[in-house]
Amino acid sequence: MASDPVNDAVAAANLDEAIGFALPARNARGRLVRLGPVLDEVLSAHDYPAPIARILSEALVMTALLGAVLKDAGGQLTLQAQTEAGIIDLLVCDYREGELRGYVRFDSGRLAAETSLPSLFSLFGKGYLAITFDQAVTKERYQGIVPLEGSSLAEAAQHFFSQSEQIPSLVRLAVNDTGHIAGGILLQHLPEGEEGRERLHTRLDHPEWEHVRILAETIRAAELVDSALPLENLLWRLFHEEEEVRILSTIPLSKGCRCSLEYVREVIARFGPEEREQMVDDDGFISVDCEFCSRLFPIKLSDLDA
Ligand SMILES: [Zn+2]
Repeated sequence: MASDPVNDAVAAANLDEAIGFALPARNARGRLVRLGPVLDEVLSAHDYPAPIARILSEALVMTALLGAVLKDAGGQLTLQAQTEAGIIDLLVCDYREGELRGYVRFDSGRLAAETSLPSLFSLFGKGYLAITFDQAVTKERYQGIVPLEGSSLAEAAQHFFSQSEQIPSLVRLAVNDTGHIAGGILLQHLPEGEEGRERLHTRLDHPEWEHVRILAETIRAAELVDSALPLENLLWRLFHEEEEVRILSTIPLSKGCRCSLEYVREVIARFGPEEREQMVDDDGFISVDCEFCSRLFPIKLSDLDA
């Protein structure tokens, strides 16, 4: 079927973006994310089997959702799944100023031996999800760790907020059938405002939160990945009966890797002469590839000391 340029343009306008929103009267704040070409770009660096591509897509959406929590420009959010005896050995994604990247290291033999769609447990084993916030201006680093439990990454993320942060939260992630579009929502209850002076565990009931949580739960996976549905319209569908829905920001998302020849040279330079000698190939090069984007950096050994 020939593609329709007008429809394609409309659809592209609703991909690779995040919107931040607030429901001031309900003390709720959230973010909606939908990824399209960015997903393809990140995934194309490796030849991932479908279940791995899917979990990485979900993780990238989650990373973009969590990036909303960063307060200052230049801050970085890193999501890392550390696993024990799972098919996946390592999953890393990060976000900085709208730029996303990520990769997965996994055992292809064990994945191939799976007879059905692997569960979160068979993918990660007894794993942990580490979420690290690096604020650029204050240089503050904060890390939260939660067990990778439940049936999905979204569930694990919800545990992260409700257990380690004491913030009632709702997280939904979706990937479409083709694997080319993924989306998600993060909704949080912040009765004490952005800074959350008083921790929430002192309060037992949150009627205003229950109300918006129930509304947000009506969101369907098909809506999250529908490129014909602008995120603003989706927001309106969910919360149109609310007193006020405030759109705080619209952030274009892109694939960004921060690997560079200078960085790779710096890393190689830290090795001793004997170690470098072992890494060098017949042509006198040490070849290092970036795990995020598969870009290859051949470094000439003779240039290193120059
Ligand atoms: Zn790279």
